[in-house]
Amino acid sequence: MNLVDYPPSLSLAQLPTPLQPLDRLRKKTGGPRIWIKRDDLTGCATSGNKIRKLEFTLANALAQGCDTVITCGGIQSNHCRTTALLGAQLGLTVHLVLRGEKRGEKRGENPNEPADGNLLLDELAGAHISYYAPVDYQRNLEELMVQWLRHYEDQGRKVCLIPTGASDGIGVWGYIRCCEELAADFLQHDIKPRHIISATGSGGTQAGLTAGNVLHELSAEVWGINVCDDENYFLQKVRADLRDWQQRYNQSLNVDELDIHVIDGYVGPGYAKATKDIFQTIRLLAKLEGILLDPVYSGKAFHGLLEEIKKGRFSDSDDIVFIHTGGLFGLLAQRTELDLSRNETC
Ligand SMILES: *Cc1c(COP(=O)(O)O)cnc(C)c1O
Repeated sequence: MNLVDYPPSLSLAQLPTPLQPLDRLRKKTGGPRIWIKRDDLTGCATSGNKIRKLEFTLANALAQGCDTVITCGGIQSNHCRTTALLGAQLGLTVHLVLRGEKRGEKRGENPNEPADGNLLLDELAGAHISYYAPVDYQRNLEELMVQWLRHYEDQGRKVCLIPTGASDGIGVWGYIRCCEELAADFLQHDIKPRHIISATGSGGTQAGLTAGNVLHELSAEVWGINVCDDENYFLQKVRADLRDWQQRYNQSLNVDELDIHVIDGYVGPGYAKATKDIFQTIRLLAKLEGILLDPVYSGKAFHGLLEEIKKGRFSDSDDIVFIHTGGLFGLLAQRTELDLSRNETC
């Protein structure tokens, strides 16, 4: 039975991704059974959660006849890297508006130092990149995007703007469809997880999971652990993405009645800044399960999940699904923080 009518999309991700129990971790830490949805395996270079959204976003861009896409994010944005690579695959010109200094422009930095992590892949994929100091970016993002839009339109290009993280009413479809996959996973493993948890950075993943949970009748509670901003911001942002989705596609689901749950308290020193205990959780999962989390999103959120389990938010008898949203290249960009000399045993 088809519970949901999807708009057109491109088949770009390697799907379905596996759902695996973290049994070795559970043996060590006790607590509820955690299943991990391996969306870090949605593609080699295009890995992570953004590709699920971009399957819809880029289908929409192509349907509108766009030959150029402009998007934005932090200097190590997984979303920008995924867009750069998929744009190359589809023959689109990609322009990235990035928050942060170009390498070599920070004091004490070597200008010949090659780009790292996601940025290296952006360059490799041939994306056009412009860099803005964080204050300018924050203050003027909309104008900057429009400025570049005009720049390309003046050259006769047909341009599509993609918002941060592809989080809008179009991108929401990606994780609605992931919920259809989860429904099949749950059937296959004969489980009925009570909670679905993921990292929240721009809100579209959580928005999709929140709507998909209802549309695909998963009967779970969906939680986002925010890695920037705060609970209030994301309660509004997730709802706004859902309203946009509802209006664009004339959906009957009442999005104002959907429960949105944000677990705040794990941002730490700031976006993309992780404390030692987060790197410790990253090492723990790598050693115990062979799973690679990142310090910006998945590692922060997974660390938050383990802390919340310790605090008793989740009952030991309820299964939990953690969505591994990817981020490996962001881990590599922060390799100096990993401190592997601390070789404690698990
Ligand atoms: C973007 C991203 C997230 C957050 O997803 P949003 O839909 O932006 O909230 C989580 N994990 C990783 C690795 C990401 O790149």
